[in-house]
Order: sequence, then structure tokens, then C-alpha cells
Amino acid sequence: MKFSILSLFPEMFDGLLQSSILGRAQKQNHIEVELVQIRDFAHDRHKTVDDSSFGGGPGMVMKVDVLERALNSLSLVVKQENREQKPPHVVYLSPQGEQFSQKTALRFAQLDHLVLVCGHYEGVDERFIDSYVDEELSLGDFVVTGGEIPAMAVVDAVARLLPGVIGDADSFKADSFYDSLLDHPHYTRPADWIPGGDSQNGMKNRVVSPPSILLSGNHAAVDEWRRRQSLLRTLIRRPDLLEYAGLSRAEKRLLGKLQDALSEDLEQLHKKMAKE
Ligand code: SAM
Repeated sequence: MKFSILSLFPEMFDGLLQSSILGRAQKQNHIEVELVQIRDFAHDRHKTVDDSSFGGGPGMVMKVDVLERALNSLSLVVKQENREQKPPHVVYLSPQGEQFSQKTALRFAQLDHLVLVCGHYEGVDERFIDSYVDEELSLGDFVVTGGEIPAMAVVDAVARLLPGVIGDADSFKADSFYDSLLDHPHYTRPADWIPGGDSQNGMKNRVVSPPSILLSGNHAAVDEWRRRQSLLRTLIRRPDLLEYAGLSRAEKRLLGKLQDALSEDLEQLHKKMAKE
């Protein structure tokens, strides 16, 4: 899969693209990343990429003509069978877009060519969005300085879903959101750990161990514990996800019971607080 990134600060991507997983993914041709310096497409003496906003107000706006030239410079992915050039899917990273999700990452992982346009300053001239952008995507309800960090999150999230990019082909299926559930908790060695044990003031008499079932060697019991933890965590932290989770009847019953227990607890707490 090819990613083309249009940015005023392409060097920001160096760390990400040289990282172990994405570096290897490029070497092994699982992904190709084309970084385009938008400023190269400003034709005036000063290489101007932005201008003040029509109507006044603070901040600068990225110029539509420069962005258009940068976009048109991209080498398109050629479909091998019939030498047809496939138009890429163009995404503008924007706090006003739909929030990026694992579902979107899975959809993008089916594409041949994804173009990510990184804005700066007040953003890009709206006419660029209207004319060329297929989709606006946000990293969340906050504003960062430029689209580079959001674009990095998209490249990373999509690339790790592509065949061959992460060692264990199925490991992303165990991650949060894949089946609309959150992942279960994880533990590793040492089995017995004393908080602050390395320091003078460690709580020497307080050993914290993982749930014993994880050390039991009983794989079926471990799988069941993990699934229950996923269900419980999702119920408590992200109940909105459960609607789309493929749950068995027994799991639905279990969730129903847990939900009742939680609302009972909340009711008790509410009553207790009302008396205080
Ligand atoms: N004036 C814009 C607004 O309020 O919608 C914000 C501009 S922001 C300072 C500059 C650039 O950062 C945007 O053009 C966009 O590319 C990127 N950006 C900022 N926050 C983002 C977010 N939450 N998700 C995706 N991109 C974001």
C-alpha cells in the first residue's frame, strides 16, 4: 500500500518511518511512503504557502493553488492488470473531521493509495477541501499545531493492519476495537513484584501478583478469564461499543447480570451520597 503525505514539515516523519516496524515494512515493500514538501510547489520568489484570511482575522490560510500543484505532483499507483491509474483516496487531517477509529483504519487498509494532507496555521483554503478531499478526519476533539501528528497516527494504525507488517499476522485481532471490545489486561514477569521494591522506601511487605489463573497453565480457563475481562472492561469503560460486539447468548446474559449489579451499586452509592 502506498501512503503519500503532503506536509510543510515532512522531516517530522523521519522518526516514525525509521522505527523498527514501519522501517522494516518499507524495506520489505509492504508499504511505500512518499513525502511531499508542499513548499516546493510555491512558485513565487519567497516560496509563499499561506496568506491572510479573506474577511480579516488572525492567522494564515494555506493556499489552494499551491496545494493543488502538490497534490497533482503525486505519482499514482498503477493497477498492474490493465495499467489503469487508480485515483488515490484523499484525506485532510482536520479537527472538524469525523473521528479516526479502528473501523476507518481497517477500511483504509483495503486501499492501494492513501493521500494525507497536513494543514497548518488556520488550516487550508476551503476550496481545496471542496475540490479534492474525499474525507476529513480528526484525531479527537482537540487542536494540535499541524496535521503531521494526526497523519502519523493514521499511517501507523493502517500499516500495522497490512499483511506482513507485524510479526504475528493475527495479533491485531486481539487488540482493542477489533471485535468491538476492549483488550483484556496484560501482565508479564516478574510474577511477584513489590511496588518501589528497588528503592529504600519500597513497600517490602506488599507483593503484587497477577491473577493466579494466568499462571495456572490452563489455557481454556485463561481464555475464558480474558474474554470476561474484555467484556467487563468494555461495559465499564466503553459501553457504547457493546452494541456492535458479536456476543454469544451466554455473554449477553453475563453482561446483563453485570449491568444490573453495576446499576444496583450505583443506586446504593447515590442513596448513600444523598444522605451525607
Ligand atoms: N483553525 C482550525 C480549526 O479550528 O478547525 C485549526 C487549525 S490547526 C491549528 C492546524 C492544522 O492542524 C489543521 O489544518 C489540521 O491539519 C491539523 N489539526 C489540528 N488539530 C487536529 C485534529 N484534532 N485532528 C486532525 N488534524 C488536526
